[in-house]
Amino acid sequence: THGALRDRTNMVLKIALNAPLRRLFDYLPPHDCPPGRLRPGIRILVPFGSRRQVGILVETATASELPANRLRRALSIIDDDPVLDEDLLELLCWASRYYQHPIGEVLTAALPTALRKGRPSAEEPAAGIRLTALGSGIDSDAISRRSPAQSRMLKFLREREGSCEATDLAALGGSWRDTLKRLRNKNWVEDFEWEWAPRQAPAAAIPGPQLTAAQHEAVRSITDSLGQFSPYLLFGVTGSGKTEVYLEAARAAAARGGQTLVLVPEIGLTPQLVDRFRQRLGLPMALLHSGLPDSQRLAAWRDTRSGAAAVILGTRSAIFAPLSNPALMVVDEEHDASFKQQDGFRYSARDLAVLRGRRGNAPVVLGSATPSLESIYNVREGRYTQLELPHRPGSAVAPPIRTVDLKHHAATNGLSTPLVFAMKQHLDRGNQVLLYLNRRGYAPALFCGGCGWIAACRRCDAHMTLHREASQLRCHHCGASAAVAATCPECAADLHPVGEGTQRIEETLARLFPDEPVVRIDRDSVQRRGALEERLEAVHSGAARILVGTQMLTKGHDFPNVTLVGIVNADQGLFGTDLRASERLAQTILQVAGRAGRADKPGEVLLQSQYPDHPLLQRLLTTGYRGFAEAALSEREAAAWPPFTYLALLRAEASTMEAPLNFLRAARAKAEQFALPVTLLGPAPAPMQRRAGRFRAQLLLQADTRGPLQSLLRPWVEQLAEMQSAKKVRWAVDVDPGELF
Ligand code: ADP
Ligand code: ZN
Ligand code: ZN
Repeated sequence: THGALRDRTNMVLKIALNAPLRRLFDYLPPHDCPPGRLRPGIRILVPFGSRRQVGILVETATASELPANRLRRALSIIDDDPVLDEDLLELLCWASRYYQHPIGEVLTAALPTALRKGRPSAEEPAAGIRLTALGSGIDSDAISRRSPAQSRMLKFLREREGSCEATDLAALGGSWRDTLKRLRNKNWVEDFEWEWAPRQAPAAAIPGPQLTAAQHEAVRSITDSLGQFSPYLLFGVTGSGKTEVYLEAARAAAARGGQTLVLVPEIGLTPQLVDRFRQRLGLPMALLHSGLPDSQRLAAWRDTRSGAAAVILGTRSAIFAPLSNPALMVVDEEHDASFKQQDGFRYSARDLAVLRGRRGNAPVVLGSATPSLESIYNVREGRYTQLELPHRPGSAVAPPIRTVDLKHHAATNGLSTPLVFAMKQHLDRGNQVLLYLNRRGYAPALFCGGCGWIAACRRCDAHMTLHREASQLRCHHCGASAAVAATCPECAADLHPVGEGTQRIEETLARLFPDEPVVRIDRDSVQRRGALEERLEAVHSGAARILVGTQMLTKGHDFPNVTLVGIVNADQGLFGTDLRASERLAQTILQVAGRAGRADKPGEVLLQSQYPDHPLLQRLLTTGYRGFAEAALSEREAAAWPPFTYLALLRAEASTMEAPLNFLRAARAKAEQFALPVTLLGPAPAPMQRRAGRFRAQLLLQADTRGPLQSLLRPWVEQLAEMQSAKKVRWAVDVDPGELF
């Protein structure tokens, strides 16, 4: 429609702005703007309130609901070419509607920060500023009294390895231009042209292993369907060579000039994996993840859009990469919870990858050793084709899992005799041992033996975790911390740590194996930059042979000499109330177990449990993931849970207990008026009702198909925004929620 508009006086621009409002904003085109430049997906600078804001043109129209005298005029056009091409723009608009999230925030989420701020997207060399040899020698602290601004600018450059884009310096504020001029005059800095060469330059490709028959078959299926939408579930046990399949399929896609997007879980994007892709493919790559500095993210974005990058490797948000020629979508560890964003724009990158493949006529490969029940169900229903890698290549075999019944073998400080004994055996043979425990800190509770008092968080319905290293109690839900009291505040008796966290296991290990250095990997131990790499290096070099850690250890790491995996405690998951609790537990156990015996050394897994006869464990250990999944699907079907039904969750929270419930009751009444086949469950308080000082409650919507759910959500969410009781709460809709809390 926009092309047909000749008469500019009638033209209204529908612009998305980064605001929590569920609509587009109307503007008149900028003065003297040729209509041909007004293409959807370009950025436009507009007045918004008393400020200027960067907006994205979504469409043009001939009329506005606003009276002509209230329409403001856009200021200027930023882009010649759209930053969001037609395909991506449509996908994002769809996602905004489907996930019920404001369009402006959705479109913004798809752009690197630099572009959100209005910086140019074109591939022109940017004006760079760098330290000269003279400037590098200046002690910025020494001049900080006399010339604070100059000192700050030198520091700023040093923090960026001596160079930055000239416009980055604006972040220093004040009269930074004058400061820059002074530094130039002193010959401490100089100008240069910043080239946007691909950051991930290709290395010479090194050949991979000879593919097994199963790998070969998988690669052939995928490459045969290049050029058409074809969703696959690549179901292969840990270490079965799924990554080799991605690599060969990406090579084939690149040979046809197409790009491959590879999504990996948040903590799966390790330097090891990046190197493996780079070395094996010898193709230019782009890395996209949230941890990158602005300029690198922009460079990767540009390389993706220009087609310079053949393989784009990234975490969740990379699903919005501006692929110029998408040929293949890969989602590795597709079951991983991190593909679903848990706040703000709550999209599922895995589900959007399938949609992107469909829209772009590209095969989609969802890979996992422990696929989500959704994907297994999609195979069963004939929507996805299953590709199987049933064995590890060569002599490596998947390790057997044995349980240790904690009712018969008392564990001292977390470790039972059979586990300690097995550790000794494996260490004696010169191998490494990995212990998994999904609890950081020293102990999950601090308890008074005199009166039963337990240290609780003042702002959450939760116990505080004892962190002995820091001598602190910390709440893992809100981040609150408190000093550790020496005695009970109620009765002055002694306090005892109850249960085990990774720190306590580390302490126990130091006592049991005094000559073996222990490497602990959890969120606390790797906070410092480089700490994770150092610790992994200690394991790879063999300097340390005992590893203890949380979930962080389970993904993306290859420890060829680990032959024993001990699961210290997974019992919490057996009685989890969440819809996906048992699915997550089964996945975690098998993923952790998969760290053992990856090379040609056979491995062994010991699982400590108070409940070794629990049906879930029994089924998993006797029939494997497939048997577990079949049984779990039957349970889901009987309970009418996903994937047999579709869910949306309306969450609300406030500083009073009543406000969220009042709002949700009113919301429920409104929903009932639509008289659609959608079941409303609740409102009910959230499983952890109080968190960070706020009371939380939720209303669950359940439907047999997506249609009625979507028909209800769209108008309903608009009504919610207008409700009086909505003003007293923070609320959000979560479509296809990953977790029900
Ligand atoms: P996954 O992605 O399924 O966990 P990987 O692709 O990482 O498995 O493979 C596990 C290990 O097996 C790696 O060290 C890899 O180099 C090796 N490997 C994979 N395929 C083969 C093969 N066909 N022959 C020999 N080794 C292989
Ligand atoms: Zn007490
Ligand atoms: Zn708390």
